[in-house]
Amino acid sequence: MSEHYDVAIIGAGMSGLSAGIRAAHFGKKAIILEQHNAPGGLNSFYAKEGRKYDVGLHAMTNFVPAKERRAIFNKLLRQLRIDRSELDLIEQKSSRIAFPGANLRFGNDEALLESEVERVFPGQVDGFIRLSVAVRNYPDAAISQPYQSTRKWIKQFISDPLLEEMLFCPLMYYGSAVEDDMDVGQFVVMFRSIFHEGLARPAEGIRLLIRVVLDRYRKLGGIRKMKTGVKQLIAEGGKISRIVLENGSELTADVVLSCAGLPETYALVDKALVPDQSKLAGQLSFSETIAVYETLPETWGWGDDTIVFFNNAETFSYRNPADPIDLRSGVICLPNNFEYGDRPLGEGLVRVTCLANHDTWCGYSDEQYVAAKGDWFGRIQQSILPMMPVATRQYAEDLVATDMFTPRTVKKFTRRARGAIYGSPGKVKDGRTEWGNLFLCGTDQGYLGIVGSMLSGVVMANEHVLKG
Ligand SMILES: Cc1cc2nc3c(=O)[nH]c(=O)nc-3n(C[C@H](O)[C@H](O)[C@H](O)COP(=O)(O)OP(=O)(O)OC[C@H]3O[C@@H](n4cnc5c(N)ncnc54)[C@H](O)[C@@H]3O)c2cc1C
Repeated sequence: MSEHYDVAIIGAGMSGLSAGIRAAHFGKKAIILEQHNAPGGLNSFYAKEGRKYDVGLHAMTNFVPAKERRAIFNKLLRQLRIDRSELDLIEQKSSRIAFPGANLRFGNDEALLESEVERVFPGQVDGFIRLSVAVRNYPDAAISQPYQSTRKWIKQFISDPLLEEMLFCPLMYYGSAVEDDMDVGQFVVMFRSIFHEGLARPAEGIRLLIRVVLDRYRKLGGIRKMKTGVKQLIAEGGKISRIVLENGSELTADVVLSCAGLPETYALVDKALVPDQSKLAGQLSFSETIAVYETLPETWGWGDDTIVFFNNAETFSYRNPADPIDLRSGVICLPNNFEYGDRPLGEGLVRVTCLANHDTWCGYSDEQYVAAKGDWFGRIQQSILPMMPVATRQYAEDLVATDMFTPRTVKKFTRRARGAIYGSPGKVKDGRTEWGNLFLCGTDQGYLGIVGSMLSGVVMANEHVLKG
């Protein structure tokens, strides 16, 4: 006899946990099935040589003050019954888009970016203001429309190619599954969440957020099975009738929400049904280096930059690179350089994210892989030196620990096809599949990032578990 649930959720990432909370809160019998032994999915944490590391978190987007009750972030927390104070959020200082010959700063007050555009691109500021208004007024219904190119749409507002690239850079790095372009709906969502709203992080990092979400789910009676991969979804009569687990057992559910991704979910039903794997699987993966220093960035002369989105090439390229890693652009995040005030921080941290080629990293033998990691770690650190303050050039002496992940790491721990953090370029915005009770949730439903994936969990549970 297999157990029966109102809803079975594949994946204990941020979308799955959020969907679980909504379902369990309304008395639904919910189970979350996770192949890995740690919760959080792409946004997880681990310990190495006695030191704690976050995997995903640079910053949470959509940060607004608590009084803005109608803002997405506050609505999301209310839907999940999470008190903001539990997250102990610390705001960014300010961030920067750094291109050859031009820098634009932005922060949690949207006026900063507007004044920076006026300073650096005086002829473009009217267009920028019109763009910002158009983004604010963009109808919610249009966000869920099929893909539309932002490259074409943005031309009615911005005519300077450099400003266009500079605006794209952070929005693509923090949320585009499409090479060198973005869906207009996704651009609008990312513009609002980063430029209109802002960035913050839980004081203690991602583990605090995950602990809060897990506690909520557990207290509501939700069931979670870790190291329990879903092997197959059996379809009968247009519905998923049975869920076969990798441990050999089976269960049934009225509704199945899959956070595993679009091609990954279709492959669980029938590999032959994946419409066109090469088109559906994401093209974009990343590597990240993590360097831990004895000293804090301010002692090296590092100022207020919390995150730097940089491009050193003549044109900004956001695509799967030919080299194992594209050193020409990336994101430098200093997780301890938020507004921590007087709180003791201990060590300095620098994370550098760059585009990386999945096929190369996954094609290496184990020995080649270790050697390539060592080699590229050094090259990445070298490549960011020109962006560091002069005093920072000596910072290597303070280095106490390092780590690095690659597309191979992402694939191994999350099973994302091609290690694609932002999933498939083809999003299914209503979450529906060709099986009546199977819905996509999270990244491939089209909501990206931590807040986005949590929102997707809430929306999909509301639509398909609570209403259905
Ligand atoms: C290095 C890095 C930095 C990031 N930085 C930020 C940031 O600063 N801010 C931000 O907002 N976002 C960031 N993100 C993105 C953010 O982490 C993701 O967009 C978000 O967490 C995706 O959540 P999800 O629930 O959709 O998917 P996932 O987190 O991928 O969750 C899916 C889960 O499904 C599980 N699964 C897959 N297949 C199966 C199966 N067959 N059976 C059982 N379980 C299965 C996986 O193990 C996984 O746990 C970052 C991501 C990475 C990797």
